[in-house]
Order: sequence, then structure tokens, then C-alpha cells
Amino acid sequence: MRSKQGVYLVLNAGSSSLKFSVFRAAANVVELEALVSGQISGIGSSARFQAKSADRRPLGEHRWDDKESACRDTLLQYVLDWVNGTLIGDEIVAVGHRIVHGGLSLGKPMRVTPTLLDELDRLVPLAPLHQPHNLAPIRILAQKFPELAQVACFDTAFHSTQPAIARSYALPRALTDEGICSYGFHGLSYDYVTSRLMERQPELAHGRIVICHLGNGSSLCAVKDGRSMDTSMGFSALNGVPMGTRSGSIDPGVILYLMREKKMGYAELEDLLYRKSGLLGVSGISNDMKVLQDSEDPAARAAVELFCHRVAREVAAMATSMGGLDALVFTAGIGENSPEIRALIAERLAWLGVSVDSGANRTNAFEISAADVRVPVFVVPTNEEKMIARYTITVLGESMASA
Ligand code: AMP
Repeated sequence: MRSKQGVYLVLNAGSSSLKFSVFRAAANVVELEALVSGQISGIGSSARFQAKSADRRPLGEHRWDDKESACRDTLLQYVLDWVNGTLIGDEIVAVGHRIVHGGLSLGKPMRVTPTLLDELDRLVPLAPLHQPHNLAPIRILAQKFPELAQVACFDTAFHSTQPAIARSYALPRALTDEGICSYGFHGLSYDYVTSRLMERQPELAHGRIVICHLGNGSSLCAVKDGRSMDTSMGFSALNGVPMGTRSGSIDPGVILYLMREKKMGYAELEDLLYRKSGLLGVSGISNDMKVLQDSEDPAARAAVELFCHRVAREVAAMATSMGGLDALVFTAGIGENSPEIRALIAERLAWLGVSVDSGANRTNAFEISAADVRVPVFVVPTNEEKMIARYTITVLGESMASA
């Protein structure tokens, strides 16, 4: 009988969803083999499990009634049982988690310990909408399977290299010292995209690159020599460019006005800025870029135009933080799949030497820049799950070496 092979489970737990992927280590940590992935959506009301193979064949589906849909323990156990039942002959040797906030001190992925969990708990006020959900499966697994190795990978960690000037807001020093500063997010995506560029365009990857992570949540990052120098999201995931339902940066005076004149309280403002603004708020139609792009309604066009205007403006800001621009990269749902949005952003950046080739852009090719442009433009699909699996293997290797 062949011995069981070790596989790595990656979990990305949100408020109403639990996404999972399973990887097997290949010859080296960069070339991980993706085996299966899936998610439970609708947690809390009508939970639904769906899973697919690496080549996107549907592999499983399940639904829960309303009562069971809220029990995260039951839902997580279902994922574990499904993985174990589907990948017979494989054994989950470790679990890697996406954790939104690592604060100022956690600048790299860490093996989960009770002390680390306490530290991550203390960061909940910095990311109240995400951090508690990220931590929930860690707790459940630690209780059920105390021997199972778990690794926490932080969305903020990639930005730990930002210089102080990029981190600071012009607020009284005491508030900055308390941690009211720019942390940045989408770090696992930037890390992965940077690693792909290092493989495919090593010389450029050591230069000054602006990566546009444009999805339902969107941000930009200035990456110089592989390190984050600045980023558009900040203290929270609200800052920067407009998103599906989030406002992006607005004059803070607007919030003061809404509080004073419209008597809006915390809950109403949170709902407005996180869930009713962005593409949805401007268009009044949808938070989905594809829907807006396909619509002829002027309100949909206005949302698309505002999004592109703000992304282009932010590219220039990011370039300034690095003293120049050697390459522009698009990633995530919109960045990887929308030739129209990439073209509209590139048009606005022509003065910087950015221009896309319409044929290459139409096919979502790796390099989409026109011939002889000063700033080459790339489309690099992101893979945050793979980045987490890589880190999980690396961190475990390190902790075994130091044991
Ligand atoms: P993500 O959060 O990375 O999954 O990205 C989701 C966003 O990508 C949604 O706004 C989708 O409408 C958008 N998206 C996906 N495919 C396309 C496409 N072909 N054209 C325009 N937007 C797209």
C-alpha cells in the first residue's frame, strides 16, 4: 500500500463565505499542484457548497437548511470530510489561512500558536468586518485537531516595506503612534504577481512597477525591486480607488457633513461607505463591472468612467512614490478580464508613455503594450491561494528546521 501523500488546505473565510483550495507540493515550492477548490457561500442563511477540480469540472454540491447554515463548525467539518473523501490517499498536513490584518509587527506569515491568536484578536478593531471571520476557522481547527499545523498569512504583510512617509497620515503624531496609519491590503496578490514577474521578466521585476489589482475590491501598489513602496488602500480597505460597493477615497469632510447635517450615525455611515457606494452607488445599477460595461445606460457609463479616471490618477501617484514607472501590471477579475477597462486606463496614461496593443489587449495576453512604448504593460493573473500554500510549506519547513 502506498503511503499517504501530504496536501495543503488553504482557507479564506469571510463573513458569508468560506473558500478553500487544496495543493500538493511538487518538486519545489513554487510549482505547487492545484488539486481541488471550492466554496461555501450564503453562510448564515442558505449555505451552499460547490467544489471543482483543477480543470474546473464540477465535483460536488450540497445545500444546508437555514438552521444549519449558521453553524461554522458543521460547515468547516463538511469541507474537511469532503476533501478527505475526495482525495483518497492524500492527507491534509497543514492548513494555510488568509488573514486580513497582521498589524505593524507581523511582517511575514507565521505558524499559528495561542500567543499569535491572541495578538490577531487584538487587531480585530482594525478590521472588524473581516478579521473575526478569518480567525474563526483557526479556532475551530485548533480545538478539534490540536496537532494540525496552521499558518496565518497576512494581507498587510507585503506592505511592511513601505517607507514611513507612505504609511503616515497628516494627523497628530500621537494618533500615528497608536497605529492610525496606512497598512495596505491585497498583499498576497501583490506578492504572487511580483513573483510571477520575477520568473517571466526578471529585469523589469527589479524596476519600478505599478500593479493594479482591480476586482470587486480594488487597490494599486507601487513595487520597487520587488518591495511595496506605497499602496492606495490604507488604514482600512475603504481607501483609494472606487470599488464594487466601496467608495474609495473621499474628502473626510463629507463624513463630517453627513454626521452634522444628516445626523448619520456609525452604522449608517459604514453601510453607505462599504455597501452602497462605489460602482453600485454611482450607477444605481450594479456593483459588477461586467454588467456596467455591457450596459448602455449613461449611469453605468458614468460609473465606468469614474473608475478608470481614479485608477489612472492613482497609477501616477504610485509612480511618483517610486520616482518613475518601468512597467504597469493589471490583475484580478477586472484587471485580468476586461480589455475595455485596461484600454480606458491606458489612454489616460498616454502622457506617461503607456499604450496598449488592441489585438494583444483583446486576448488578455501576458504583454499587451503597443510596440516601442516607454512603459510596457502586462496582464498577470493573480493566485492568492497558491501564495498562501507556498507560504504554508515554507513556514512549516522553517519551523521544523529550527525545532
Ligand atoms: P474579483 O473580485 O477579482 O473576483 O473580480 C470581480 C470583478 O471582476 C467583478 O466586478 C466582475 O464584473 C469583474 N469581471 C470579471 N470578468 C470580467 C470581464 N470579462 N469584463 C469586465 N469585468 C469583469
